[in-house]
Amino acid sequence: TFTLGPKISNWDQERKAWLDQNPEYPNYIRGKARILLLTGSPPKPCDNPIGDHYLLKSIKNKIDYCRLHGIEIVYNIAHLDKELAGYWAKLPMIRRLMLSHPEVEWIWWMDSDAFFTDMVFELPLSKYDKYNLVLHGYPDLLFEQKSWIAVNTGSFLFRNCQWSLDLLDSWAPMGPKGPIREEAGKILTANLKGRPAFEADDQSALIYLLLSKKDQWMDKVFLENSYYLHGYWAGLVDRYEEMIEKYHPGLGDERWPFVTHFVGCKPCGSYGDYPVERCLSSMERAFNFADNQVLKLYGFRHRGLLSPKIKRIRNETVVPLEYVDQFDIRRLSTENS
Ligand code: UDP
Ligand code: MN
Repeated sequence: TFTLGPKISNWDQERKAWLDQNPEYPNYIRGKARILLLTGSPPKPCDNPIGDHYLLKSIKNKIDYCRLHGIEIVYNIAHLDKELAGYWAKLPMIRRLMLSHPEVEWIWWMDSDAFFTDMVFELPLSKYDKYNLVLHGYPDLLFEQKSWIAVNTGSFLFRNCQWSLDLLDSWAPMGPKGPIREEAGKILTANLKGRPAFEADDQSALIYLLLSKKDQWMDKVFLENSYYLHGYWAGLVDRYEEMIEKYHPGLGDERWPFVTHFVGCKPCGSYGDYPVERCLSSMERAFNFADNQVLKLYGFRHRGLLSPKIKRIRNETVVPLEYVDQFDIRRLSTENS
């Protein structure tokens, strides 16, 4: 049967020994866990060139967030395992990064079609001290409804530990493309509420694993829904002006969503569930909404949420440090541990 690589069974001890021997690469720096954000896109150009432009905006958005919050970032465009092409490509890459970066405590996967829209909000990591996997999701949708959208795998956190390697091993077997993935898709559609008929995807496979092996896995899985670790775009993008009027960044929830994820939009591929124009203009709004939060320090903002053009919001000054003190996002972070 399919595996992600040679079975590793003593990772916690090996990693601990390595950390002890390499004090210059600590997994916690000034009390903060070291986080590595992983994102990526297919090895080839998008079907439509505009898709590549949105991939660029998407990586710029992530670089900005990560720079502001001291998070390292990796962009993968390779298929490490040719069996696991497409949405399954995240699995071998997450495993690879855990093994190659023992100093990293959390790997944060984020889809290319997910944008940070709250540049101030920070992960409440101390909440997750006893957990190894953090997913946006709802317990009732998962265990009562068995819904195929009970959790979302567009933005989630994995602790670098043996448990996570084991979970990846149990998650991967439905992934190999061709007949295995096709047949597995039938099982998933038969068992998960609302799932259309198609090949096995990583999200459905994870939900199915958590449902069928609940006792084995769930005590280390945190289902987060107090803020938008993943936020479904359709209910959010039309409300940005209202949010700007009423609220401020740093909240992370429906008042000012941390992440806006364009589920069902495929600007890089050919077949999405929504018209491509609606997807692209909505992404443009999400990007500019976030970019305004970045540009504020520099004294600019976009002319409108649909405009790549910017305008000055304050005059140049001979005492620039006053603005630094006032507008540097790093001073506003929600969790200072
Ligand atoms: N992805 C990748 N390599 C691929 C295909 C997809 O790294 O060859 C990543 C990309 O970041 C994408 C995510 O996997 O956003 C999920 O893939 P999916 O096809 O579900 O795309 P989405 O629905 O997010 O557009
Ligand atoms: Mn996605």
